[in-house]
Amino acid sequence: RVKERGRDGIAFFEQSMQVAASERLAIESELRRAISKGQFCLYYQPQFDYRSQRIEGAESLLRWQHPERGLIGPGAFIDVLEQSTLILEAGRQILHQACAFIAELLEAGLITPQFSLSVNISPRQFRHASFVDDVLEAIALHDIPTRCLSLEITEGIVIENINDTIDKMNLLRSHGVHFAIDDFGTGYSSLSYLKQLPVDLLKIDQSFVRDCPHNPNDAEIIRAIIAIATSLHLGLIAEGVETQEQLTFLHQQGCEQFQGYLFGRPMDASQLRSLLQNPPDYAVT
Ligand code: C2E
Ligand code: MG
Ligand code: MG
Ligand code: MG
Repeated sequence: RVKERGRDGIAFFEQSMQVAASERLAIESELRRAISKGQFCLYYQPQFDYRSQRIEGAESLLRWQHPERGLIGPGAFIDVLEQSTLILEAGRQILHQACAFIAELLEAGLITPQFSLSVNISPRQFRHASFVDDVLEAIALHDIPTRCLSLEITEGIVIENINDTIDKMNLLRSHGVHFAIDDFGTGYSSLSYLKQLPVDLLKIDQSFVRDCPHNPNDAEIIRAIIAIATSLHLGLIAEGVETQEQLTFLHQQGCEQFQGYLFGRPMDASQLRSLLQNPPDYAVT
């Protein structure tokens, strides 16, 4: 949008957008520096399995360790990153960090190859020609069991080219990589698209979990999502679980895996290591 200019060379966006555009450029150049200086790091949020009553996975979540402003969450910069090609280099760094962490946890005996660490993949990163190679390279470099890595994509990924999407997913799945659909229910993909996608797991978006079970609409949507996952033989995990009440409701409806503040906030690598070393007695019912 920044480059859209009239014939006279004058930008035709409004004054307010101009501010936004120049701000965007400033953020972009800061992000470029962040990538080259290695200021991006991953936090990890535990995922709880009800049947085993144990932490059996984690989601990696991007953080920017800013030299002056401290730790910054992705809400402040992920859009700018994803809308520029910077996401490609950042995405490779993220994959490498995640795979290195899996290798380290296995080496330390803190996890078994049943453990899965998920990485969020942006549509632009997924669509890039080198995506499949980038993933396989990170796995090979750190010599981890492929099944330990799971990729979170959103429904929006299929809008461009469903066949290309399916091909890439099948290729990675043939190596053992798992796929989850993140924020399920908030996108616009039809169920016939979903049926074609070779995914393993749906993540119930936290917006439906937040007010459940009191909000009857949310409760119904959750029931519907669980019914879809069941009939398509997909795994299921609920995001944003903060209370025992939400957990009880979700479990009664048939959900067995949970992620949210009730089980742990996103934490740094050393905190996740101690959590795995000394798992608390969750004693949830
Ligand atoms: P997401 O993948 O849906 O991640 C879940 C978000 O919900 C995380 O926010 C997490 O901290 C937050 N969350 C988890 N449990 C709870 C809870 O119980 N209550 C509440 N209120 N919130 C909870 P975060 O870390 O700020 O990430 C926001 C989004 O940024 C992510 O949403 C994802 O779309 C994106 N993102 C994060 N890391 C990456 C990354 O490495 N690459 C890409 N492309 N996107 C990323
Ligand atoms: Mg996610
Ligand atoms: Mg999500
Ligand atoms: Mg999200």
